[in-house]
Amino acid sequence: MCGIIGYLGYRKASEVLLKGLKRLEYRGYDSCGIGVVDNGNLIVKKGVGSIEEVSKSENFLEVEGNIGIGHSRWATHGGITRENAHPHTDCKGDLAVVHNGIISNYRELKEELVKRGHIFKSQTDTEVVPHLIEEEIKRINKPYISQEDYINAVKRALKRLEGTYALLILNRNFPDLLLGVRNENPLLLGVKEEECFLGSDISAFLEWTKDAVLLEEGDMVILQRAGDRVSYSIYNIREERDVTNNREKVTVNWDIETAEKGGYEHFMLKEIMEEPEVIKNSAKVSKEEIEELAKCIRDYSKVYILGMGSSLHAGMVGEYWFSKLNKLVIPCDASEFLVKGIVDEDTLVIGITQSGETYDTIRALKYAKSKGAKTATIVNVLGSTATRISDITVMMGAGIEISVCATKTYLAQLMILYRLFIEYGKIVNRDMNIFEREIEKIPQYIQEIIGNRDNIKKVSESLKAKNYLFISKGINLPNALEGALKFKEITYLHAEGMSSGFLKHGTISLIDENMDTVALVPPSSSDLFRSVVSNIEEIKAREGKVVAISPVDIEVVDHLIEIPEVLEEVSPFLYAPVCQLLAYYKAVELGRDVDKPRGLAKSVTVE
Ligand code: GLU
Repeated sequence: MCGIIGYLGYRKASEVLLKGLKRLEYRGYDSCGIGVVDNGNLIVKKGVGSIEEVSKSENFLEVEGNIGIGHSRWATHGGITRENAHPHTDCKGDLAVVHNGIISNYRELKEELVKRGHIFKSQTDTEVVPHLIEEEIKRINKPYISQEDYINAVKRALKRLEGTYALLILNRNFPDLLLGVRNENPLLLGVKEEECFLGSDISAFLEWTKDAVLLEEGDMVILQRAGDRVSYSIYNIREERDVTNNREKVTVNWDIETAEKGGYEHFMLKEIMEEPEVIKNSAKVSKEEIEELAKCIRDYSKVYILGMGSSLHAGMVGEYWFSKLNKLVIPCDASEFLVKGIVDEDTLVIGITQSGETYDTIRALKYAKSKGAKTATIVNVLGSTATRISDITVMMGAGIEISVCATKTYLAQLMILYRLFIEYGKIVNRDMNIFEREIEKIPQYIQEIIGNRDNIKKVSESLKAKNYLFISKGINLPNALEGALKFKEITYLHAEGMSSGFLKHGTISLIDENMDTVALVPPSSSDLFRSVVSNIEEIKAREGKVVAISPVDIEVVDHLIEIPEVLEEVSPFLYAPVCQLLAYYKAVELGRDVDKPRGLAKSVTVE
């Protein structure tokens, strides 16, 4: 998830873009660039490094001109190089485009465009966009292209794109026109009479205007200068109609820090609220790599999934998914792998690591490679060590996560594993339609849960014990472990996760007023539902307090957090955000440093 900013007005665009990019830097970067039109020339400056470094070495501020676009990149397709940094241009150097998101059908489009003679300069998915627009302009086949012709060409090009994108498009032949499109990646319009801004979030342009127009998916913003005024109109490419008057205009009274957190008190809450969007990204990213990995899962007799912390828990959910297809996939704590992993040339080792730098996972992957195993990584940071040492890299597409506590990246890992499960099922001739159809609905389920977060907050505030148990059975057992991990990580209260069946083999003796239980009750359609309810009754018989996260009411419990009833295979996506929010609200109530819990680091690069 990168940051983008666009400007059209009377100021020196390079200055606005540079300041805006610095505001967006918290979203992460590996390279950056700007494109400005000055006196009919398109000037592009870009490079690898921080915004401060690149803007100095490339001398961004020497560029004059009052219209421009800027980008700070968080690579998903193509390495971290100057050529891959945005903006990207067409063959003639008329058009410049910046993009946040993933064009999932870029391979097909690129192939077609190359056949038509287009020359590509980068390995990104993004570069197909300027070439596609160029191609559509060419097809108009007129000596003079009007502004309307050009806008229509852009609309036709957009129709061919699949995936998720927020785009800004500049054309040196139309120096008073800036286009922006929002399609499943964030984009906001900042307005004033004499200037307008487009940005990934409000912090990008808050310094100049507090008036913003909230865009919806499919909105294409057309910014136009006439004299000393800049006006905007909005055309929705899905509905194929003008929607300018249907969009809400708001005045934002945030300071910069609040704006960076999207108006939320903490990055952790902001990142939980981003989960529906992230899941949509993860549902599209790395299609070919997932297909390749699914084939390897079929072809290798021993398959391990390694991870640490939340990544390991995601891998454990994966084990349950594959077990439904009779495939043994063994999740393993990466720090234990060198001791117990059985590795040879018939072994596939998949490392899950958000940062791609987790020491134990990297070490285990290197060890597996040295023994001749096939290696793969599911990772959030392109160019990280894990991607360099693995045969197959699957990007999880979650965007940068700032809070130390993993939330949206855990959901993204689940989505990648779920897609692997579906792909593998198809390869072994199972009917996976029912699961595939759910991919589209999962963001809505999560939206419903996080939309009802006030109830979760109330329940969290009613929990007064010093110790907590998180229990479940089946595919949600890893979520119980993950729930306990989240809880202890940021509240500093003791929490343990275990299977509800395991409870009576010792731990139940701890049940008293100092030990509350959070039960992740399986969907009522599951065979395990009754079993977990019986375990809850055992706790109640010992006067323990129980919170149930359940799709149906369970009479005996003290508090109920209701979630939608879904297929058991889909349910892990629903319990995870509830547990994250429970931990979040408790930590806030206790005054903890939620985004930076004591003694922890985002990426654990030591043994
Ligand atoms: N997919 C594009 C790239 O890898 C954009 C990534 C982003 O959102 O920064 O360049």
